[in-house]
Amino acid sequence: MKFVQPRLPYSPDALAPAISQQTVEYHYGKHEKAYIAKLNELVEGTAFADMALEEIIRTADGPLFNQASQAWNHIFYFFQFSPNPVKEPSGKFAEKIKETFGSLDNLKAEMEKAGAQLFGSGWVWLSEDEGGNLFITQTSNAGNPLTDGLTPLLVIDVWEHAYYLDYQNRRPDYLHSIWDIVDWSVIETRY
Ligand code: MN
Repeated sequence: MKFVQPRLPYSPDALAPAISQQTVEYHYGKHEKAYIAKLNELVEGTAFADMALEEIIRTADGPLFNQASQAWNHIFYFFQFSPNPVKEPSGKFAEKIKETFGSLDNLKAEMEKAGAQLFGSGWVWLSEDEGGNLFITQTSNAGNPLTDGLTPLLVIDVWEHAYYLDYQNRRPDYLHSIWDIVDWSVIETRY
């Protein structure tokens, strides 16, 4: 197996109540596991087998793009959380957020709005471009800002499997609760 699912740096019950143990076990333990297993099947014996995951995302399309990007997106999503998160960015990153969005609260509100308005399955991202400018974007299905030349910093999974066990149809409540576990020191390191 080329790609191995990394172990989460917290226990499955550590993100509750924002994300329950059951959701972590299904979402990371079963959905993400399946994306990585299918990715490994698809790259075996092809030129993609020697590529880094990001390179596959930038160059593949169709089913391979979908599995590779979903594998990457979920690792990016789950590794930004902590049961004891740093609740605010600092330094130049904090200044850039204030300059771009007015305040951290406004950035959160805009991401929640983008998540609530996204039709169907997808992801909401905070990314930066080569000039260090910050953007909130939505992608459908397995989409990833890497294919648009952007560097992702933070992501919210807006597929129903991300929140339905805990919030049912209350997607806005899920989007709002995410901030209780986002570790801004992780996001700042990605900037
Ligand atoms: Mn998901």
